[in-house]
Amino acid sequence: MKNNELHMTFPAMSENEALARMCASAFAAQLNPTIEEISDIRTAVSEAVTNSIIHGYNSKPLTIYFDAYIVDDELKIIIRDEGKGIDDINLAMTPFYTTLPDGERSGMGFSVMQAFMDELYVSSMPELGTTVTMLKRIKRCEEE
Ligand code: ATP
Ligand code: MG
Repeated sequence: MKNNELHMTFPAMSENEALARMCASAFAAQLNPTIEEISDIRTAVSEAVTNSIIHGYNSKPLTIYFDAYIVDDELKIIIRDEGKGIDDINLAMTPFYTTLPDGERSGMGFSVMQAFMDELYVSSMPELGTTVTMLKRIKRCEEE
């Protein structure tokens, strides 16, 4: 039975999106993931952190909370902000839905997280913030 955890907070700045991605992959490394699994985790974390920065906090450098857990072969990552929140989560998770259509957003962040992780849960309250919980099971390589 393997157990580990990592907790950090950082201001919502784009530099820290790369940092969160790196920390997530370094933490996941102890499960011996494949390159593809690492890449999936990095991409999903980037999407969640970018959402907290640009949507949650409107690029103000307020606090993002990052918590990661390993239990056996499962990695759980929770990204949370105390920003503006989401009115309609189902709508927000619809592919191509974005509230920033004029910018460079394509409305695919949640779809990417869903595709690259095994489970995705989003909870949010307007004006209170958003919590994204993602699970990925890292397949065990049989040892010789
Ligand atoms: P893309 O991720 O493709 O650049 P996007 O960020 O608009 O575009 P999603 O990541 O799928 O697309 O998010 C969909 C919508 O959900 C966003 O446009 C935004 O309105 C809302 N949203 C997502 N995350 C948050 C958050 N942390 N706080 C507030 N609103 C959010
Ligand atoms: Mg997004």
